[in-house]
Amino acid sequence: MKVRGRCLLLLLLELVFLSLLSLCHASAGDDQPPYKSCVESCEKSGCVDDSCFNSCKFPVGIDPEGDLSLTKSLDSAYELFLKEPLYLRWKKWDCTSECRYQCMVREEAKRESDGHLPLKYHGKWPFVRFFSLQEPASVAFSVLNLLVHFQGFSSFLVLVFYKLPLSAHGSPHYEYVSLWAIYGLLSMNSWIWSTVFHSRDVRFTEMLDYSSAVALLGYSLILAVIRTGGMRAEAARVMVSAPITAFISTHILYLNLYKFDYGWNMQVCVVIGVTQMLLWAVWACRSSHPARYKLLTVVFGASLAMLLEIYDFPPLWGILDAHAIWHATTVPITYLWWSFIKDDAKFRTKLLISKTEATKDNKSRKSQ
Ligand SMILES: [Zn+2]
Repeated sequence: MKVRGRCLLLLLLELVFLSLLSLCHASAGDDQPPYKSCVESCEKSGCVDDSCFNSCKFPVGIDPEGDLSLTKSLDSAYELFLKEPLYLRWKKWDCTSECRYQCMVREEAKRESDGHLPLKYHGKWPFVRFFSLQEPASVAFSVLNLLVHFQGFSSFLVLVFYKLPLSAHGSPHYEYVSLWAIYGLLSMNSWIWSTVFHSRDVRFTEMLDYSSAVALLGYSLILAVIRTGGMRAEAARVMVSAPITAFISTHILYLNLYKFDYGWNMQVCVVIGVTQMLLWAVWACRSSHPARYKLLTVVFGASLAMLLEIYDFPPLWGILDAHAIWHATTVPITYLWWSFIKDDAKFRTKLLISKTEATKDNKSRKSQ
């Protein structure tokens, strides 16, 4: 009864998420006339109040697509800048982004002294820049997530290949090894691009972060269906993977090549996320798996953490916004998640070995 009650709670929670999607909205500080005129004059003079910026001496800017655009007539002295490799160019704070940042800081300081709440600028909260990192807290937590995934992934491989007994062919007994290994690689890839994107947000890094996250989410759904459905046959696995892979690939191509629709992407991600959490929750409630309580904690924790992504709030001390805290909460959840995966490997290995031994005993009894 207790487990059933918990399942019902999870179910309700997931449904609430979907209905909350409509609450997402963005206020626009970049629409405010003082901000606009500040950026305009800064781009011409290279200064905001008494501070002037070296990047405004360059005759080029970097547009939101991550491409160079000529902002003034090209002097030969500045041509060297154009020869710099791309990774050096997009790391730089060019004139426009420097002006936008400094004007935002100025406008936000005024708003704060007048007792107003912060506004979003170009879709982002006003963060305090730290060593040229745009969102330092999200960068730090993305790195932590990457490390926890690396630790989980490597300890999982050590467990299945070196600690648990291998079959007569020298392969692990656990049937989902390769699926979890791919999951580990996709997760690490996703957190690498999350770190890059939160360090410097240009179209190129945003595309890579979103595409990696969607690919991981789609793959996690495939994994959830296969593991909770106990699918061991190759044909069944292909039947599940093919339509999901087709949909996810089309979605990624649509975002990158046709239209980068944040609202549509958010809906796709929430539906895929909620579906797999429901699958795991229902499976854990109905199964007698020894690590089912770990799994339920992960599902419950991940569901609560998702609220942070939906209830967006301005950054505390200019650093900790809802998104950064969401990245922080996924660190312990990821640790527990890999712990469940390792428990699953131990449980299945033990079960499969005892089944093989029982079959051998039966055969030898019959032959006697
Ligand atoms: Zn993020």
